[in-house]
Amino acid sequence: MVRSDRPLIAVAATVLAAGGAAAVLRPVRRPVREPIDPGSYFTSGQRRRARRYRRPQAATGLVAFAAEAGTMAALARRWPAPVVGRTTGGPGGLRAVTAGAGAGAAVTTAVGASSLPLAALSRRRAVRVGLATGSWALWRSDVVRSTALSAVGGAVVGGGVAGMQRRWPTHWWAPAAAGATGLSALLGFLAPVLLEPLFGRTEPLGEGPLLEGIHEVAERAGTPIGRVLVSDASRRTTAVNAYVSGYGRSRRVVLWDTLSDGYPVEQVLFVVAHELSHVAHRDVLRNLAFLAAIAPVGLWATAAIGRAWTPRDVAGDDLADRSAPTGPGDVADPGGGGPDHGAAAGVDASVGGPAAGRAPAGTAAPAPASVPAILAAGSVVGLVVAPAMAWLSRTVERRADDDALRWAPEPAAMIPFFQGIVLQNLADPAPRGPSRLLGRLLSTHPPVAERIGAAVAHARSQGRPLPAAVPLADRPTLAHGPPATCG
Ligand SMILES: [Zn+2]
Repeated sequence: MVRSDRPLIAVAATVLAAGGAAAVLRPVRRPVREPIDPGSYFTSGQRRRARRYRRPQAATGLVAFAAEAGTMAALARRWPAPVVGRTTGGPGGLRAVTAGAGAGAAVTTAVGASSLPLAALSRRRAVRVGLATGSWALWRSDVVRSTALSAVGGAVVGGGVAGMQRRWPTHWWAPAAAGATGLSALLGFLAPVLLEPLFGRTEPLGEGPLLEGIHEVAERAGTPIGRVLVSDASRRTTAVNAYVSGYGRSRRVVLWDTLSDGYPVEQVLFVVAHELSHVAHRDVLRNLAFLAAIAPVGLWATAAIGRAWTPRDVAGDDLADRSAPTGPGDVADPGGGGPDHGAAAGVDASVGGPAAGRAPAGTAAPAPASVPAILAAGSVVGLVVAPAMAWLSRTVERRADDDALRWAPEPAAMIPFFQGIVLQNLADPAPRGPSRLLGRLLSTHPPVAERIGAAVAHARSQGRPLPAAVPLADRPTLAHGPPATCG
């Protein structure tokens, strides 16, 4: 009864908490916008080409997601005992942490590998349209680096969970929430310095009209911009992007060289003004606040779902007196789920032999072999939280556009800029049907047609002449393809 209901209650509570946190953290100001006819800004050929590229890419992404989810579910339900089950015996907490770390690293690596062929397929299509550049060798080395990073992340999470389960068998999720919040804050600070250099080089923006313009925009915004860096994104893509990362002393505004080298200064300044809004409103910290707010209920839900998904011979009180599992074939089908209290006399007590049956029900720690199920549960929690995060992000992005329209020297430059990146990124400016629904659920940015509508509404509210609504000519170098992002 409770056992089967609890995961559902946990999911519902998480969705509510995420929606509530996003509602509290979202900007109060609601920028003006008005509907536009996408046909006035993009030709039907441009839109058709974008859809022909984007829809199969989205389908590939969904299949990749299904492959990863299937792999994760399979590992959660039938974890190969020889890999982790046998290493969980022994009294030392260190062994449990090591086994949990190994399980975490193995699960993240296997899950990533399961979607790799689809990632390669997706990249091949991007290469064909001119969006992805750089050699396959560079792509492979990127994959190796990101896989290694994921494995390290999986090990930290798996080891951390296993360690906390030993110390706090039933309430490990509470310290885990504190740990996850602290780790996110630390990573948010260190990522620009430690992780971003693994995937590209940056250097300070050189003297020139762009830098001068940036300082003028910063003055108008009343916000010191700090470091402005240019990254060598053109080694990998023709897409255009810019972003703010880090906080405190690690904060920086990064412009991809595809933007700073390929777009008119007034359009780049619009993007800089947009990023400056993120700086002024501390949007990096806002995201951290969102994570901190949902971490307790999210980790509680993860624990509840993970418990239900943990194979019974790994987590079940009721199995305390069973004989030890001896191999993969002994891992029982989880069936209806685990115990209500996540306690287990399971592997730790039974695999080692002498302690079997001794651990009092309700106090013994779940075995590290429950880590795969907990990682799978964490993925589900991440998934149900994603729409609220995306909603919060879209409200923040709308405000950043609105600020940029006020701070940029030429607000009307926003329109040709978005027209340009839509062509370059082969983006769909006004998605329809399933793409629209998916966008509403998961897009971190409003659709481009809406963003252009904000520029039009802003010009009208300021009594400025409305920029002409004329489609851009296809860029000669991009005639067959495109790229883009944050903005
Ligand atoms: Zn932004």
